[in-house]
Amino acid sequence: MARINDNFLKLKAGYLFPEIARRVNAYTTANPDAAKKLIRCGIGDVTEPLPESVRQAMHDAVDEQGNRETFRGYGPEQGYDFLREAIAENQFKEVGISADEIFISDGSKCDTGNILDIFGPGNKIAITDPVYPVYVDTNVMAGNTGDADSNGAYEGLVYLPCTAENQFVPAIPEEKVDLIYLCYPNNPTGATATRDQLEAWVKYARENKAIILYDAAYEAFVQESDVPKSIFEIEGAKECAMEFRSFSKNGGFTGVRCAYVIIPKALKGTTEDGTEVPIHQLWSRRHSTKFNGASYPVQRGAAAVFSEQGKKEVADLIEHYMGNAKLLREACEKLGLQVFGGINAPYVWVGCPESVDSWGMFDRMLEEANVVITPGAGFGAAGEGYFRISAFNSRENVEEVCRRIAENLG
Ligand SMILES: *Cc1c(COP(=O)(O)O)cnc(C)c1O
Repeated sequence: MARINDNFLKLKAGYLFPEIARRVNAYTTANPDAAKKLIRCGIGDVTEPLPESVRQAMHDAVDEQGNRETFRGYGPEQGYDFLREAIAENQFKEVGISADEIFISDGSKCDTGNILDIFGPGNKIAITDPVYPVYVDTNVMAGNTGDADSNGAYEGLVYLPCTAENQFVPAIPEEKVDLIYLCYPNNPTGATATRDQLEAWVKYARENKAIILYDAAYEAFVQESDVPKSIFEIEGAKECAMEFRSFSKNGGFTGVRCAYVIIPKALKGTTEDGTEVPIHQLWSRRHSTKFNGASYPVQRGAAAVFSEQGKKEVADLIEHYMGNAKLLREACEKLGLQVFGGINAPYVWVGCPESVDSWGMFDRMLEEANVVITPGAGFGAAGEGYFRISAFNSRENVEEVCRRIAENLG
């Protein structure tokens, strides 16, 4: 019989979103009237339509595919030059990342998971708590962990608690680790890291020859000018970090699929015998073997995000979502709750009222306000005591959520 990858059996059975769905179903089945009023502020998916510039570029690209003279088959695995150059020019000119250090893909979820292909066994891996669950589960699948304990923490991972005390940016670990996942602006806490904090991480990574896997999926939501948008704004980061970016949240590409990884040529890892090898070369080889490139119309659509019209449309989308975040923040603050995030990220991270835990708060919001939020504990043990409200919604829904928060939870 075919042997399976036993590591998959260590995975906790996708606890968070199925459990949310179960509770929502149970409640709406018992309360059909409430079901009609339900507003979902749980899942981190965009709600507003794709920008017109993007749609037009995709239409044009599809038409090109219908014409013998302009038809394109397989494209370059690393992405078309027109998109890689547009990204380098528009996003990384100041920090000096070149187009050939950018690898186009069909999503950051896949990239952050697939990257483990090029790292060997025995790495010590640090993740934040709370965390985007993909980083953890892909390490479990890759065999980089032991079993989960009763709190859901996996043996072998180094958990870095992110709390109100450290402004949700973890302290530098005492021990030596090899890979560190950082995500700023953060999902789920909405926190950002300051330049000083990122400098400390870069210093640590260089001293310990560690690599930072920096997820900047929400960089476009940064509003404050002193908040770094890229790890490469930090001196020395090109020798110790790669960065993941996506068109999902800025351009609304969650259903279209396009993202990219920046791997500087100066970034190196080591073989068992200590020989240094450029990571760029390994990822390039991996991409060429296991990936045949993102679709041509999609890459044309992504490039349109950097057109004059595209930039304006994206700015309007960001303004819309951040306007929602502001309203949600204010509604929670009025109740006297502790409110974090929502200033440079589309997530508001709220402290539960005293004596209510995060699933208790989930139930209250569901039953009293008919609003679905995400309980902090679902993102890790340190998320207990908090809940996440997503600002990805229509203005109308957000205004209604704010009214219900004031009426039912006050
Ligand atoms: C939404 C999100 C992404 C983007 O994922 P895609 O696969 O590109 O849609 C990446 N990281 C985090 C933390 C996210 O929340």
